[in-house]
Amino acid sequence: MKAFVNVSIQRKILLLTLGLGLFTSVLIAAVIAYRDFNQAQKAFSTRLNLEVKIISDNLGSAVVFQDYEAIADTVASLSAETAILSVKVTDSSDELILAKEFQAQRGQSQTADFNAPILVDGERVGSLLVSTYNEDLARVLKDVFLTVAICLVFLLILVVALIMFLGKYISKPIVDLYHIAEVIGDTKNYSLRVNIQSGDEIGRLAEMFNYMLESIERRDENLEKQVIQRTLELEKLAEEFRHRAFHDSLTGLPNRALLGERFNLAVEHADRQQNMFGCLLLDLDNFKTINDTKGHNYGDKLLIEVAERLKATVRKEDFVSRLGGDEFVILLIDIDNVETLDEVLKKILASVSEDFYVNDELVKTGVSIGASIYPYHGSDINSVKRKADVAMYRAKDAGKNCFQIYSPEMQEDVKHRLMIQTDLQQAINEEELILYYQPKIDLKTKKIAGHEVLIRWQHPKEGFLTPAGFIPFAEETPLIIELDYYVLRKSCETLSRWQKMGLKKYSLAINLSGRHFTNFKIVNFLKDYICDYRIDPSWLEIEITEAVLINDPEVAQNVVDAIKSLGVRLSLDDFGTGYSSLNYIRTLPIDCVKLDPTFIRHIQDNEQDQKLISGIVSLGKSLNLEIVAEGVESFEQLVMLESFGCDYVQGYYFQKPVPEAVLLDWMKHFDYAHYQKS
Ligand code: C2E
Ligand code: CA
Ligand code: CA
Repeated sequence: MKAFVNVSIQRKILLLTLGLGLFTSVLIAAVIAYRDFNQAQKAFSTRLNLEVKIISDNLGSAVVFQDYEAIADTVASLSAETAILSVKVTDSSDELILAKEFQAQRGQSQTADFNAPILVDGERVGSLLVSTYNEDLARVLKDVFLTVAICLVFLLILVVALIMFLGKYISKPIVDLYHIAEVIGDTKNYSLRVNIQSGDEIGRLAEMFNYMLESIERRDENLEKQVIQRTLELEKLAEEFRHRAFHDSLTGLPNRALLGERFNLAVEHADRQQNMFGCLLLDLDNFKTINDTKGHNYGDKLLIEVAERLKATVRKEDFVSRLGGDEFVILLIDIDNVETLDEVLKKILASVSEDFYVNDELVKTGVSIGASIYPYHGSDINSVKRKADVAMYRAKDAGKNCFQIYSPEMQEDVKHRLMIQTDLQQAINEEELILYYQPKIDLKTKKIAGHEVLIRWQHPKEGFLTPAGFIPFAEETPLIIELDYYVLRKSCETLSRWQKMGLKKYSLAINLSGRHFTNFKIVNFLKDYICDYRIDPSWLEIEITEAVLINDPEVAQNVVDAIKSLGVRLSLDDFGTGYSSLNYIRTLPIDCVKLDPTFIRHIQDNEQDQKLISGIVSLGKSLNLEIVAEGVESFEQLVMLESFGCDYVQGYYFQKPVPEAVLLDWMKHFDYAHYQKS
């Protein structure tokens, strides 16, 4: 059965049709044979019964008279019947009178006997017994076989026709369907179709199959379209990511990563052309201040403007990138000589120095540019860029808003800078740093009001250094913080000593770097020192500049407030040099403003400066602020400041910054009247 289930539909139909045909023909033949046989049987016995009856009727007198000849003649009439085996005639006492055997064909198993009484006037005088074999059965069987054979021939023809019909309309379409499905399964070619056109279930099945294929094909097409779409989207995204990875999101300029790549290309190009290229490092001068005072958004917009201007100033083949913050790098391709480089540098400087308009507001910025040249200043990006960096620092040192082209001597500066930075740590530990003091004179009382602490360094190799020789380098590292802690501790020691010496109240003003104002550490140090040295906090004065607000103005403001709440005095140093000085006066809790020496320097012959100072003084007074004029070097300056109502003066005219011993000695002999003579 299992084997049958697995054979092909064509074979199944063939086998079923054949089997059914055979079964039907045998059945039909059997029915016909059975019916024919029964009819023949009946006809045979009716006929023999009749014949036996007629003969027995004719035998009456012959039996009564024992006329054997007549009996035999009468019986002989039966010889026409081929199926008779024997005939027996008996008398009334059943004594055999005649027995006759016939030449019928033997071997037939089935026999039948026919009996009839021999009557004379209704009285039985004997009996007739006829034995026969069923001759008709054989004949019938022959007929049956013939019928079956004919039936089979017809049936075969019918079956072949049926198979052809079924094959054409049922099995072939199914097999075709199967083959197409198999091919599609193997090739995944959904564009194939089944060609069956009939209205029956198979036709409908084929239609549905084709419809399904069409749907799959359409879905495949959609899927393919979607895949193409997705691939395009992914490619776009990848491109975007690539762009992001290599570009600065703010200005859209290439970033550090792309600079590396382009630098290598520039090297290849320059080597091929036997030419050189310039590497410029640009740093905006007052960007941090602009950013802090105007906000980051404003700063960002300015950076975008600067980037645009830089791009517009250089040629297309040059490469402008942003390293971050306000630092840009430009590669100037195909520079023939230093003069060309010089010209481009001037052009860039002029372009960035021009006024910018951000949010319809005028803003000025400068740029310090350091330039180096490939291949003269290095063969790889690091060395070439480092040289540009050195030159850039030199430009900053030279007063900003200018450019410098690297020269080997500059390297000495870098070495020096590094040496100072390395030695400074040891200097703090070894107490090589010395505190100098510069007195501050009260113009009302004509007395010494206090002193500013100014650091000096007795360097083992470099000799005696003023702050200009190391403070700017210290400011580049966290060393400045340690340095200030040192100065603060030493100043507290001095104050404590002076208190013990019974000196009258002299305040000590200490300069703090803007770097302290990002957290509250300085507040804790101050608290500890005041406590440890048991000093009156009002003897301490902290000098800050607007630089304290550079990083995070909110935190800085809080730190300044906390210092103030310790009872320490606060003064705003270098007033007038910064960006928007008046703003700081309002926001910071200061007691005192220190006018920068640049205001004082030309006071006697500059009316503008005079107006400015008298204005600041009256403004300070209205805000309850004390005004200190720094850098007073002459009697004329002193007179003028006095006339403006300035509260304190500080400068070489009275005393330079000096060591403690010199100061104490000078204090002993101080007499204001001595300074009132020119
Ligand atoms: P500053 O706070 O503005 O200090 C005043 C500077 O003016 C001092 O320079 C002082 O010597 C100088 N000066 C005073 N009177 C006159 C004058 O009449 N004429 C001229 N030409 N100059 C005068 P110094 O001592 O060289 O200090 C320079 C700067 O170094 C200071 O400027 C201050 O910002 C910084 N500095 C000094 N000591 C420290 C310190 O302990 N910590 C920190 N963070 N900075 C310090
Ligand atoms: Ca100062
Ligand atoms: Ca100052």
